[in-house]
Amino acid sequence: MAKDPLAWIDAELAELEQAGLRRRRRVRQGPQGPVVVLDGRELVNFGSNDYLGLAGDERLKAAGAAALQEGWGAGASPLICGYNRLHQQLETRLADFEGTEAALVFGSGFAANMGTIAALVGPGDGVYLDAKNHASLWDGARLSRADVRVYDHGDYRQLERLLDRAGGYRRRLIVTDSLFSMDGDLAPLAELVELAHRYDAMLLVDEAHATGVFGTLGRGVAEHLGVEKEIPVRIGTLSKALGSVGGFVVGSRRLIDWLVQRARPYLFSTAPPPAMAAAAMAALQIVQQEPLRRRRLLESAEYVRAELRRQGWTLGPSVSQIIPVVVGRAELALAVSAWLAERGLFVPPIRPPAVPEGQACLRISLCAGHRPSMIDALLSAFGQLAKTFL
Ligand code: PMP
Repeated sequence: MAKDPLAWIDAELAELEQAGLRRRRRVRQGPQGPVVVLDGRELVNFGSNDYLGLAGDERLKAAGAAALQEGWGAGASPLICGYNRLHQQLETRLADFEGTEAALVFGSGFAANMGTIAALVGPGDGVYLDAKNHASLWDGARLSRADVRVYDHGDYRQLERLLDRAGGYRRRLIVTDSLFSMDGDLAPLAELVELAHRYDAMLLVDEAHATGVFGTLGRGVAEHLGVEKEIPVRIGTLSKALGSVGGFVVGSRRLIDWLVQRARPYLFSTAPPPAMAAAAMAALQIVQQEPLRRRRLLESAEYVRAELRRQGWTLGPSVSQIIPVVVGRAELALAVSAWLAERGLFVPPIRPPAVPEGQACLRISLCAGHRPSMIDALLSAFGQLAKTFL
């Protein structure tokens, strides 16, 4: 019998297993929320990106269900005949919400990032990345075949030197997360805006974790820092605080017109179900009408950070609802996560390559639906751990 050409995978998986880096999926039963059933066990959930508690909200479900009159599948790419009136309405609402001329909705935030970067730069151009940018931004940069230049996390002085040194590019694009998904800290957007102006570069900011959470109106970190108008390309996702699915780009009509021509994941992929757009519109309305959700979320994040620091934990630079508790080795992060699960708490371990070697952590994601008793249980478990661990 011929040898299986995929037999090499066994050795690779065994190596991951040994290093504590093999990932396994837990099966969730029932909706996302502050309490979830994972692998048959009920756990308080500190692992989702459902920051405003909307993924299981009745209003989103009702909007999605009502939209089923438009059918389920979109059946074609948006440029053929998959673009439904609900997709169009969602784009209008997103542009209104974000205060921009136009918006474009992709099937995912990952696709929005990849497609947008590769549509803006190509061979002969330069793309500048924060070292801790999300995988989708990295993949878009690589896919574009522009020269990829990387600056240390948040180090805009180093970016300045890179911009100063490099000449001869046709176009340049600076790319950053606004709220970093592993460290929970913010990009220095005002400084990046200044550099983009000075060096005549484009600036793309991914607000995936900040949309609905930061800013008085919930538009993200750019709003929070007062630099929205200075950022020509802003990207968000509908899949986190907005409790739905899909990604979006907001900016000028010119930008969106170009992406419709050139963003390959938009052109060559089936449009998402129209019902997704209906649910996302319901979520946007809630973000606009219920600012208390995000205010409470950030207040409770502040409290949790202060308490954990008081217990002696290293949290890195987090200033948000994403709070990484650094423990070091990957195996240790796995063991702590299992120990917390025995106490009814789900806090996912984050291991390389998502974080650098030796900086594995437990990543706490707070959500608006966490009750004070849930937060107390989390803090008391970490307090107990701190006594033996630190
Ligand atoms: N950007 C960032 C910063 C993210 O963390 C993620 C998802 N983890 C994405 C983009 C991708 O968004 P989506 O899940 O909608 O594909």
